[in-house]
Amino acid sequence: MVFDQLRDGYDVVVVGGGAAGLSGALPLVRSRRSVAVIDAGAPRNAPAEGVHGLLGREGTPPQELVERGRAEVRGYGGHVVRGEVASAARDGDGFRVVLADGRAVRARRLLVATGLADELPDLPGLRARWGRDVLHCPYCHGWEVRDQAIGVLATGPMAVHQALMFRQLSEDVVFFAHTAGEPAAEQAEELAARGIRVVAGEAAAVETAGDRLTGVRLADGTVVARDALAVAPRMAARAKFLSDLGLFPVEHPSGVGEHIPAEPTGRTPVPGVWVAGNATDLMAQVAPAAAAGLSAGAQINGDLVAEETRRAVAARRERASSGEAERRRGR
Ligand SMILES: Cc1cc2nc3c(=O)[nH]c(=O)nc-3n(C[C@H](O)[C@H](O)[C@H](O)COP(=O)(O)OP(=O)(O)OC[C@H]3O[C@@H](n4cnc5c(N)ncnc54)[C@H](O)[C@@H]3O)c2cc1C
Repeated sequence: MVFDQLRDGYDVVVVGGGAAGLSGALPLVRSRRSVAVIDAGAPRNAPAEGVHGLLGREGTPPQELVERGRAEVRGYGGHVVRGEVASAARDGDGFRVVLADGRAVRARRLLVATGLADELPDLPGLRARWGRDVLHCPYCHGWEVRDQAIGVLATGPMAVHQALMFRQLSEDVVFFAHTAGEPAAEQAEELAARGIRVVAGEAAAVETAGDRLTGVRLADGTVVARDALAVAPRMAARAKFLSDLGLFPVEHPSGVGEHIPAEPTGRTPVPGVWVAGNATDLMAQVAPAAAAGLSAGAQINGDLVAEETRRAVAARRERASSGEAERRRGR
């Protein structure tokens, strides 16, 4: 992939070039806006083999999807720039965006589409299997582990729900109480009714053999054989670079992590800054992240059209009143 050189200024700088950012750029470049998508190149689903639940592109490798999106944005004259944004600050009626390598660029509007970081349970062996046979989302990878021996590592309030979801895909599901502790009576009854065995005690490690997960080792040394392990990472919006703008991530009401709050259109409380995708909607899969980006991009174009129209009307009135003054002087 060839990346573009960053110019001095753009109508819109999109920070993050995953599903949300690239989709956000499309309506803008197609509206003849100058756009730079600045992307650090680490989409959240990078470890996965394919993107599932995506109509028309089912199973496409994540990298291929991003490459296609970049080519589409560039096809309309948009710039796709490799880099990491370190800060963004108000600069007159726009913004100054500074990259970690020192480059800087001006933008009239910002679209934040930086996604989120999955904070995985700190269990030896687990991180290396993330996105392969350590999973979080039944819709993303559930079909791929159907009928397998699945474990659910309980670390928070969503664990029982997650176990019941994976039970739809396999009759062999084990619930590891781990740090969440044993489920309350009502939840224990639900798990028992669905044939999900509860294993008490903390897990100590994920067991692997070659390139696959083989089980979960408990603190007492017992190994419970499993083919796949579901976890629920805490999700944290990638948003540190927004602090100079007074935009900070806040705890999501569901308790699953922190996000940048925004209106349904993606408009944030900071004028001129929109957000789309996982950075604001922690649960969004690829299709909803792309849809949110598209909608935010269209909103930004509408906002620029409104600003340009206000300016044109003001200039027209100014011309009209100075023409009137000329005429009066000429009388
Ligand atoms: C293992 C795994 C598998 C998944 N599988 C599926 C699936 O099968 N189907 C599905 O629909 N969803 C799946 N998802 C969810 C999917 O990854 C998200 O829905 C999607 O990535 C959200 O898109 P996004 O554009 O908001 O964020 P991302 O795709 O994460 O893109 C954000 C981009 O911004 C960049 N970035 C971050 N900070 C900066 C910065 N400061 N400066 C510049 N760039 C920056 C990142 O490097 C990244 O390229 C999966 C998630 C995981 C973790």
